[in-house]
Amino acid sequence: MFESMDKEFVLQTYPRNYVHFQKGNNATLYADDGKDFIDFTSGIGVVSVGHGNERLANALCDQAKNLIHTSNLFMIEPQAKLAKKISELCGYSVGTFFANSGAEANEGAIKLARAYGAKNFTKRRYKIVTLEYSFHGRTITTVKATGQSSFHDSKFAPYPDGFSFVSNLEDVYAALDDETVAVMLEIIQGEGGVSVFDKLALQKLAQFLQEKKVLLIVDEVQSGVFRSGEFLASQLYGLQPDITTLAKGLAGGVPIGAVISKHKDIFGVGDHGSTFGGNFLSTRAGCEVLDILDVYKKSGELAVIINYFDTALQAFVRTCKATCKEAVGIGLMRGIRLRNGEMMGKILQAAFNEGVLVLKSGRGTLRFLPPLTISKNEIDEGFTRLQNAFKKIS
Ligand SMILES: *Cc1c(COP(=O)(O)O)cnc(C)c1O
Repeated sequence: MFESMDKEFVLQTYPRNYVHFQKGNNATLYADDGKDFIDFTSGIGVVSVGHGNERLANALCDQAKNLIHTSNLFMIEPQAKLAKKISELCGYSVGTFFANSGAEANEGAIKLARAYGAKNFTKRRYKIVTLEYSFHGRTITTVKATGQSSFHDSKFAPYPDGFSFVSNLEDVYAALDDETVAVMLEIIQGEGGVSVFDKLALQKLAQFLQEKKVLLIVDEVQSGVFRSGEFLASQLYGLQPDITTLAKGLAGGVPIGAVISKHKDIFGVGDHGSTFGGNFLSTRAGCEVLDILDVYKKSGELAVIINYFDTALQAFVRTCKATCKEAVGIGLMRGIRLRNGEMMGKILQAAFNEGVLVLKSGRGTLRFLPPLTISKNEIDEGFTRLQNAFKKIS
C-alpha cells in the first residue's frame, strides 16, 4: 500500500523491509496483517522503555497540549531538570548541551574539544584520535571521525582535517602529538561488532590522557542510558570522561542528543546552538524516561532482566554451536559472533520470517538491543523463534 509511494517519494538510502507495524506493546510489535514480532532491536537502541509506554505517552500528551517548543532564547523547565538529572546520574558535576541526534551530539563534542584546545594551549590543539571499527555518525565530520575507511567514501570528499584512527588502545599512545586535543571512543562498539574494550587497558589510557591534558570523549550514544546496566558504561569502568555523548535511548523515541561535560566554562554564549535542541517535548520525554529507568535500576529489576537475557543468550549459543562462536557485549547491548559472517543475511531473513527482529553489526555479529523493560516471556519467545529460524537455515 505504502510501498510504491515510499519508493517514488522517499529518497532511497535504506535497505528497507516493507513490513508495516501498526502498534507495539513493550518488546512486541504488531504488523498490519496481524503478525506479531518480538523486537530485539528497540528501533536500534531507541525505544528504551518499550513500545506503547503509557507513562511516556501521557507525559508527551500532557506536554504537547501545553508547549512543544519556544526556542532556546527562553527558559525551558524540563531542559534544566533533565540536565540536573543527568548530572546526578553521572555522579560528578557536569553540564549538558542538548542536540537532536547522536551525530549532532558528537559534532558538539568535537566543537567543545576544539574550543578547549584553543583556550588552553599556546600551540593550538585540534586533532582527534579515534578507534578502528568505531561509529560516530553520518555528518561529514562524524563520518570522518568514524574509524572505518569504508565510510570515507570519496564522493563526499573533502572531509575536515584533524582526524585519524588507530587499530587498538595500545596504538593510541603513539598517535598522540602536541596538536592532539582528544581521544574519542565507544566503550562498547555498537556498530563494530558489540566489542568491549578491556577495562584495565582503558583505565590506564584514561589516566595517561589526563596527565597529558588530552581530553577523553566517550560516545555513549548506544551504550548510555542504562543499556550497560549502569547509567553510563563508563561507570562500569570507573571513568569520569571529559565529555560524554548520549542520544538513542534518552527520550524513548523522541529525537534528542546530549553533549555532557565537566568542562562547563569552555562554551560561551554564541559558541554553539540548535533550533530544536532541548525543546519542551524532547526534554520532557527525557525526564520521564530517566525517572522510569532510574527507579527500574534501583529496584534491581534491570539487573534481573539483564541476567535473564544473558542466561537465554548463552543457552542459545550453546545449542547453535555449529553457527555461533560466542556471546559478546554487556548488559542489554549484546551480540553473537557468527562462525561465518556470510550467513548474516540469511539469518536476519529467517529470524524475520519466524517473527523476531534482530540487527546486524560489524565483525560478523548478530546484535541484540531489546527495550530495557523487555519481559521474561518476550525473551523466552524471542529465543524460541530465533531457534526455529536457525533450524530452518542449517
Ligand atoms: C547511532 C550512533 C551514532 C549516530 O547517532 P544518530 O542519532 O544516528 O546520528 C553515533 N555514535 C554511536 C555510538 C551510535 O551508535
